[in-house]
Amino acid sequence: CGIVGYIGNNDSKDILLRGLEKLEYRGYDSAGIAVRDEHKVQVFKEKGRIADLRGIVDFDIFALSGIGHTRWATHGVPSAANAHPHQSASGRFTLVHNGVIENYEILKREYLQGVPFNSDTDTEVIVQLIGLFANDGLTTDEAFRKTLKLLKGSYALALLDEQDNETIYVAKNKSPLLVGLGDTFNVVASDAMAMLQVTDQYVELMDKEIVIVRKGEVIIQNLDGETIARDPYTAELDA
Ligand code: GLU
Repeated sequence: CGIVGYIGNNDSKDILLRGLEKLEYRGYDSAGIAVRDEHKVQVFKEKGRIADLRGIVDFDIFALSGIGHTRWATHGVPSAANAHPHQSASGRFTLVHNGVIENYEILKREYLQGVPFNSDTDTEVIVQLIGLFANDGLTTDEAFRKTLKLLKGSYALALLDEQDNETIYVAKNKSPLLVGLGDTFNVVASDAMAMLQVTDQYVELMDKEIVIVRKGEVIIQNLDGETIARDPYTAELDA
């Protein structure tokens, strides 16, 4: 299982799909991408191989940002509905997740009574909470941080907000996640291998950090919103 993300000056679809193909070795049962053009976010997801996913992606969309996921099901059977990305009830937020949320049933009961769910995953609770807190008036990074403080378990996350076409929000806890740096773009990946096609410069993330990834900047923060400085390293190409 794994995560990829891209935001920059090029079309993201093929970069995401090629990145997911590079993560195939980690094992998965389904895969999906969310890409955004000027107007909206569109989700494509499918059970099976990345080749199957390629078969349903609309290649006419020109998308300067996007996120992608290969799933190894832990909660909910492998199916298109349970494949990631998942969206908040309004469709505003779109999320991919690797890992397991141990307290998702408690959070669902406590905060999300009456919210319509589209999957049996633990993951959907995360994106529905972000949507709920944003509806209550929090900014996206406030809603994201508030949600992360409630989660128990492991996660690597990448989040799109339909109302902000310049940002991918990411976070991790006990699951790997890197941010890769380019001249006219930045990327997100579980493993540098997924994005070596576009850059060898990476910034490592620590647990319970969030990162605001834009095409021209990468801002690392702790869960209190304080900025953290960190230098990139050069990833070596494996033979
Ligand atoms: N727990 C999530 C699910 O079952 C994510 C699994 C994964 O890491 O791929 O959908």
